[in-house]
Amino acid sequence: MLRTASLFSILACLFLQTAHADTAGAAPIRHVIHISIDGLRGDVVPFLGPTNLPNFYRLRTEGAFTDNARTDFDYTETLQNHVTQVTGRRVSGAAGHGWTTNVDPLPGQTLASNRGFYVAGVFDVAHDNGFRTGEFVGKTKLSLFATSWNETNGAPDITGEDNGRNKVDYYLHSANSATLVNALITNMTLNPFGYTFLHLADPDNVGHSYGWFVTNGSHYCNIIKTIDSRIGAILDTIRTNAALADCTAIVLTADHGGTNYTHIPADAAVNYTVPFYVWGPGVIPGADLYQLNPTTRLDPGISRPTYTTAVQPIRNGEAANVSLSLLGLGPVPGSTINPLQNLAVTVPAPYLTIAKEGAALKARFVLTSNAKYDLEVSEELVSTGWTCISSNLTGARGSTMEVDLGSATGLARYYRLRAHF
Ligand SMILES: [Zn+2]
Repeated sequence: MLRTASLFSILACLFLQTAHADTAGAAPIRHVIHISIDGLRGDVVPFLGPTNLPNFYRLRTEGAFTDNARTDFDYTETLQNHVTQVTGRRVSGAAGHGWTTNVDPLPGQTLASNRGFYVAGVFDVAHDNGFRTGEFVGKTKLSLFATSWNETNGAPDITGEDNGRNKVDYYLHSANSATLVNALITNMTLNPFGYTFLHLADPDNVGHSYGWFVTNGSHYCNIIKTIDSRIGAILDTIRTNAALADCTAIVLTADHGGTNYTHIPADAAVNYTVPFYVWGPGVIPGADLYQLNPTTRLDPGISRPTYTTAVQPIRNGEAANVSLSLLGLGPVPGSTINPLQNLAVTVPAPYLTIAKEGAALKARFVLTSNAKYDLEVSEELVSTGWTCISSNLTGARGSTMEVDLGSATGLARYYRLRAHF
């Protein structure tokens, strides 16, 4: 037996092998741009499609996404859900951030003064770990972040080097989303942020004025096309800047949807259904986030699960802890939405073995996810030009997949697995 095992080991070396998902080896992410599109319904992007929205579709085809994420359970209003996005907390209850109004904060009013204790956010963790942070918002009420976490109200930094109490290095409000995006691009080019929060208000403004009508030629659909161009400008900046390409991720979601001329009540599906996208190096292309997370998140259909539902839907409140996870940082202290940071954006790499059995060569791997796998071969260890031997291999997780590679030829070859959905 020992001899047999040893022989297999030698053969495995002769038939040089690689075993990895196609996303393995990605560079670390050093920049996350968290985009919240105010009033973006879950259904409008697929309604308009890739011809109208090439940049939303670039995020979808290159990243992982769902159109069926959830807002906070109790509120489908702007400020409440943005606080949820940056704190990883629900609005109400003992664990909630407690910000229940949707108007401009009073002078001096902060998350802590409102709640009675300090409420940390994604800005705290990013900044305390030495990342530059930026906040670009289209509504003045979102100044709440810059105020709550400024040099007076922010918590002392007790993580490593003291980066100070002001957690928001750069703050800009403009009612003009082009101004916001241009300023973001200038900053990302000259002195990039590690974590950026970008709020684009236009769809909500248009929805309140002209209605949330998902119909061809509606004001609402037209403004979504404008938002697509804003995203395109950001993607172009990332792609053409060597300091950003391959180390920048985008997390995109919304605070609420809308119907007719409003986005309340909170129990209407059109209001609580929002998208959630994750794009960047290491994210598996084109995956449905629910398919990627079959045991830890449950697609709620059209329902509105409470926070006590055993398997939670994907929520916009995951944005904080997903952003921090992408940066390699731990969760927001006190957060209760995705505190385990376990929203998968790729699949575990299975270990591929190549073994000679008699005259035949066999490839085997244990299925580590519900993804489909393509087994590919190449004479050279190169990034492109691999030949697919067997495609769409799938089965029960934990089961072993076996592929017959034909007769051993004695030539050195490389094999790899490519995972997709
Ligand atoms: Zn809103």
